[in-house]
Amino acid sequence: MSKILIVEDEPKIATFIEKGLRSHGFMTAIAGDAKHALLMAIDGEFDLMILDLGLPGKDGLQILEELRGQGELLPIIILSGRDDIQTKVAGFEGGADDYLTKPFRFEELLVRLRVRLRSRDNHTNSDEIVLKIRNVTLDLRTRKVKVGDRSIELPAREFTLAETFFRHPGQVMSREQLLDRVWGYDYDPGSNIVDVYVGYLRKKLGSDLIETVRGMGYRLRS
Ligand code: CA
Repeated sequence: MSKILIVEDEPKIATFIEKGLRSHGFMTAIAGDAKHALLMAIDGEFDLMILDLGLPGKDGLQILEELRGQGELLPIIILSGRDDIQTKVAGFEGGADDYLTKPFRFEELLVRLRVRLRSRDNHTNSDEIVLKIRNVTLDLRTRKVKVGDRSIELPAREFTLAETFFRHPGQVMSREQLLDRVWGYDYDPGSNIVDVYVGYLRKKLGSDLIETVRGMGYRLRS
């Protein structure tokens, strides 16, 4: 099931989109300002973002710039009342995948959103079956791991943790983010399980592959 992040400060519009998407089987979450939008987008649990431009805090175009600047590939559809060509161009040049102006018909938003999700799926299937960093490769289809020519066995949880790092090379991942993605939200945040599993990965994949960033978390050296 696809999960959509709705960045919208107008509660009526946010709720309208949310209701429509949910009735079509999507999961949704709403961010009402730039700060939450950025935090939630970087968290990596969403498949697509619908982005309003006029927001409290930072403007939507700034959010776009920050996310793309960090290498975040999340598909983004701008949904804005601004219909001037300069803003549209800025949106596309800033890395938006689509641009829809308000007032809008929900059906049109839905169609565009589905197109974006489909092209993302195709991309994932064809281009990202094998993730490689240095001499370590993860085959996402067979779930086989190789270090150089050597095959390594990774249990499911370790593989998922490795995959999470490999999808965000060079990016600092906090313990909370890793817990959320690999173990699910219900895990005790005080647990040291992330550190233990990072230790397993270091032993199996190379001791200097994942570095500790003090007070912040871990980072895969790319
Ligand atoms: Ca707005």
